[in-house]
Amino acid sequence: MLYVPAGNNRTKTKRFESDFAEFIGGNCEAISVNSATAGLHLALEAIGISAGDEVITTPYTFTATAEVIRYLGAHPIFVDIDPNTFNIDPSKIEAAITSKTKAIIPVHFAGLACDMTSILTIARKHNLKMVEDAAHALPTRYQGQLIGSLDSDVTVFSFYATKTITTGEGGMIVTRNPEIAARCKVMRLHGISRDAFDRYTSTKPAWHYEVVAPGFKYNLTDLASSLGIHQLQKANRFQQRRQEMAERYTRELADLPLRFPPNAPDGDLHAWHLYVLRLTPQAGIERNQFIEAMAKCGIGCSVHFIPLHLHPYWRDSYHLQPQDFPYSLATYEQAVSLPLYTKMTDEDQTRVIAAIRGILSQCQNDSST
Ligand SMILES: *Cc1c(COP(=O)(O)O)cnc(C)c1O
Repeated sequence: MLYVPAGNNRTKTKRFESDFAEFIGGNCEAISVNSATAGLHLALEAIGISAGDEVITTPYTFTATAEVIRYLGAHPIFVDIDPNTFNIDPSKIEAAITSKTKAIIPVHFAGLACDMTSILTIARKHNLKMVEDAAHALPTRYQGQLIGSLDSDVTVFSFYATKTITTGEGGMIVTRNPEIAARCKVMRLHGISRDAFDRYTSTKPAWHYEVVAPGFKYNLTDLASSLGIHQLQKANRFQQRRQEMAERYTRELADLPLRFPPNAPDGDLHAWHLYVLRLTPQAGIERNQFIEAMAKCGIGCSVHFIPLHLHPYWRDSYHLQPQDFPYSLATYEQAVSLPLYTKMTDEDQTRVIAAIRGILSQCQNDSST
């Protein structure tokens, strides 16, 4: 007799999750969500962040990193970056720790790993949880180990359209802690406990479920997971292509008055989600004018990121001044993200490089006359 199933059993999503856990190296759980923002929210909820707590993070990030702290009524405490790496400066973290500090969220900016040894040491010493914002960091390695396999509590990846692999919208929570995994799974789907679903051990019927918390609607669709399964298989190839393009930019622009993004140290791997140049004063052109000039050449550049403390919400809620985070401010004022994506051709990149050379030689002529 043919059995008509009661409903969709989400097989693609289960497959994507198990593929992802295997990609990270096994010995972990991968829990798919419909965005990294959702994943970060679930992660903070699962580690027990609640109203009045403080969570340390960087202002040099996308607002999602910090907004999830506010979802739970907790407060972000911003710590400035190391201007060489764009990542949170570990030497400034301890001064920001108070009796209310519960966690640290490092962000691996552009796909370059943070100084995880130092940050993990601080977290352990002060008994803080650690949630990595790895939205840029697939496949990033730190001292040979993939981000997602380190000794933090949770790592969250993004599959937003612009990220290194994409499902349109989507994200993945990775953890080795079974209690955190269980809580994230319950809260991902309306606070429904699936324990009653184990049809081999449960005495309850298969349709039975229990709502144990007011959860969220954060599950990834099977449609998105189908994309993710195939994107994941290309993640290493995409990284190689991005690195090739990043190295070409640095090589072919090396003689210009620019500051180049750092390469990963030996043993690390840079995911190169972004290629962020900085215009030095010698370039003779302000960042905004440079981006306008590039646009006139038909080339779109962007800025990653407007530091959070300059945005009205964060600035006004926490009474922040631009100079409170001087390295984030200075980096932002000079930063330009060049086009970098795997579908870009060598000819596209030749045009970008020629346009930068043209604009900067014009400025230097102007300033010498
Ligand atoms: C893109 C991004 C996010 C959010 O990812 P979504 O999947 O769009 O929710 C979080 N943190 C950083 C640093 C990001 O760049």
